[in-house]
Amino acid sequence: MIVCKFGGTSVQDAEAMTRLAHIIRERINKQPVLVASAMGKTTNNLLEVAYTAARGKRQEALDLLTKIKEKHFKEAQKMDIAVAEDWAAETMNVYFKEMRDLVKGLAALGELTPRVMDAMASYGERLSTVILTQVLENNGMPAQLMDARQCIITDDNFTRAGVLFDQTDPAIVEHFKPVLKTGNIPVFQGFIGRTSNGNTTTIGRGGSDYSAAIVGAALDADDIQIWTDVDGIMTTDPRMVKEAHRIKSISFDEAAELAYFGAKVLHPATIIPAVRKKIPVRVLNSYRPEQEGTIITDEAPPCENPVKAIAFKSGITVVNVTSTRMLMAYGFLSKIFEIFAQYKVPVDVVATSEVSVSLTVDETSELWDIVTDLKKIGEVSVEGSKSIVCCVGDNLKNIPGVPHIAFSALQDLKIQMISQGASAINITFVIDDDKLPEAVRGLHDAFFKKVDPLIFV
Ligand code: ADP
Ligand code: ASP
Ligand code: MG
Repeated sequence: MIVCKFGGTSVQDAEAMTRLAHIIRERINKQPVLVASAMGKTTNNLLEVAYTAARGKRQEALDLLTKIKEKHFKEAQKMDIAVAEDWAAETMNVYFKEMRDLVKGLAALGELTPRVMDAMASYGERLSTVILTQVLENNGMPAQLMDARQCIITDDNFTRAGVLFDQTDPAIVEHFKPVLKTGNIPVFQGFIGRTSNGNTTTIGRGGSDYSAAIVGAALDADDIQIWTDVDGIMTTDPRMVKEAHRIKSISFDEAAELAYFGAKVLHPATIIPAVRKKIPVRVLNSYRPEQEGTIITDEAPPCENPVKAIAFKSGITVVNVTSTRMLMAYGFLSKIFEIFAQYKVPVDVVATSEVSVSLTVDETSELWDIVTDLKKIGEVSVEGSKSIVCCVGDNLKNIPGVPHIAFSALQDLKIQMISQGASAINITFVIDDDKLPEAVRGLHDAFFKKVDPLIFV
């Protein structure tokens, strides 16, 4: 069997959902399992409803919710779904009634907890999958709506809950096996899960890719297909450099590095369950299903170009810590990392000198508490509005001269930090946010302009 995951833009409206039905039909012999995101921008819109309600703007929040409801019913009805009081209409009405109650509660309390954010956000995937189940049925493919919350069991780290695989894997097998036996297509919500005591959780923004990989690994799928709005993993984000090439094939390590350093096309955690079972992951374009896409496998075939792709993240904060003692004291580094670990804030790039350490974080909600703790061990300065740019390629370690090409491309820019990853498959730079487009284009030109696109295409 195969797992087919469709992202927000690939289920954003009736046309997209109809395209999805064709894609599934063409793969019907492979026993597809469908994993879906919320329609288009629904997750953001639902969170906006929650924020608005918690600010006490009850009516405004209810009006926003009505717009979300109208959008879902309108797109469903274009496909002849939810026209009368059918199952889809009834289920969606129940969900919207529950959301209205949540809004009223939030407006009265004036406080929004991560737990309630997850409860609210979960409706996006729950709504889209109700419609999609009916879309498949109406296209002659018997389908069965699943409840991801019965299968993906997590800790209670709301908004980015950790998956408890020892409970999740058997739960997936238990719930999917009987459905697969009937020949019906399981329709599963990405992104959402549940704690063992029953609270709804989400596994991090963009987490539907991860859900697909978890299901694929638990069911020993032959293939995990990530259907999105671009031709595959490209040499950089095509929104930044429109000449970006499609990459035919890439290793798990390279893809993980790219995803980690900001290539939104794949959720960073997706790779983990797939690697565990050595299941190939394919990234495909739902708008151009005939295209080959990118295949991610254990080992990528050798590529002549030293750099495979360029990833980037903006809005990064650099934290500099200088030891107040003149010499690097024992345990200085470990104390710094302990503090970040205590707040569960990941550090992306690190550079050290004898007495100081610079590191980057892309999450600032707890930064001031962290800084207060860091000040107990050294002098601390914080610089916002930075970007990370990262060149990734398995061959970086074998081909000399790569740093020279990168530095030449960035010669007019102020570079704040440089790091060559311990894995030796990335070279990373930290620069000012406003120089990001220049840096990415410069590096892309330097590494890919003269390259024969046939290497990639
Ligand atoms: P989905 O809703 O299908 O999950 P996402 O928006 O999460 O889609 O991811 C797809 C987007 O990722 C693309 O539209 C593209 O702008 C962006 N992206 C960033 N880096 C890359 C890259 N290296 N290759 C392809 N797409 C990329
Ligand atoms: N709908 C969720 C989000 O917008 C998950 C996903 O699309 O992967 O983050
Ligand atoms: Mg995504």
